[in-house]
Amino acid sequence: MNLPIVVTIDGPAGTGKSSAASELAQRLGFDMLDTGAMYRAVALLAIESHIDARDERAIAAAMDRTPLTVDFSSRPPTIALDSRDVHGRIRDADVTQIVSLIASHHEVRVRLVRAQREVAAQHERLITEGRDQGSVVFPDATVRIWLDARPEVRAHRRCEELRARGELVDESRVLAEIIARDASDRGRSEGPLRKPVGADSIDTSGLSFAAVVDELERLVRRRLHETDVGCGCGGPA
Ligand code: C5P
Repeated sequence: MNLPIVVTIDGPAGTGKSSAASELAQRLGFDMLDTGAMYRAVALLAIESHIDARDERAIAAAMDRTPLTVDFSSRPPTIALDSRDVHGRIRDADVTQIVSLIASHHEVRVRLVRAQREVAAQHERLITEGRDQGSVVFPDATVRIWLDARPEVRAHRRCEELRARGELVDESRVLAEIIARDASDRGRSEGPLRKPVGADSIDTSGLSFAAVVDELERLVRRRLHETDVGCGCGGPA
């Protein structure tokens, strides 16, 4: 029987983590968990329930009443609140604006960390990406990776994504938002954004999307080979 494998990919906003992790999962035949989408879904829950984003207890109570599920039958997986697919809505600006504050609440993190570990227990081969996956949620993961890029590069990428969705964007404003969100994610006491000790890191600033995925694939295959876990995912070791 194959041993379960967890690969964590962490890093700041706009490094292309979600898209790269999704493509990597496809190549290796792993499932992929986007933990940022879970925090975004909780932010949306607060907005729709008219709860102040600072009201930790009310948000926790709403989470306890509202099932948050990840549907792994679609690729990439979609996220649902009370069985309603919200994966498009959670990328909107109102959600992005409050998600970091929502993610700083202890009661929110406890619930989502538990949910993330439950997902891992149900998937033999999982790539999970976020801010604290290798440092807090899965410190014993088989492979832990840190993705980073210069803030200007990340802001530019985020703008390209938004333009592709037909949105008008002001790049300097997006850069300021990214810098503010990084500072908030780095500064919180629980699950702060930080490179996990001993993780492999890749600076994606000068790399194309395809090159990032190639580099990730090479790294994961090498680490799995070295740890003797094997990958069961075909291709070279
Ligand atoms: O990755 P994404 O930009 O969608 O994440 C949205 C926000 O969710 C981040 O800015 C961060 O505040 C929070 N987050 C977190 N821990 C994770 C994933 C995301 O705090 N594991």
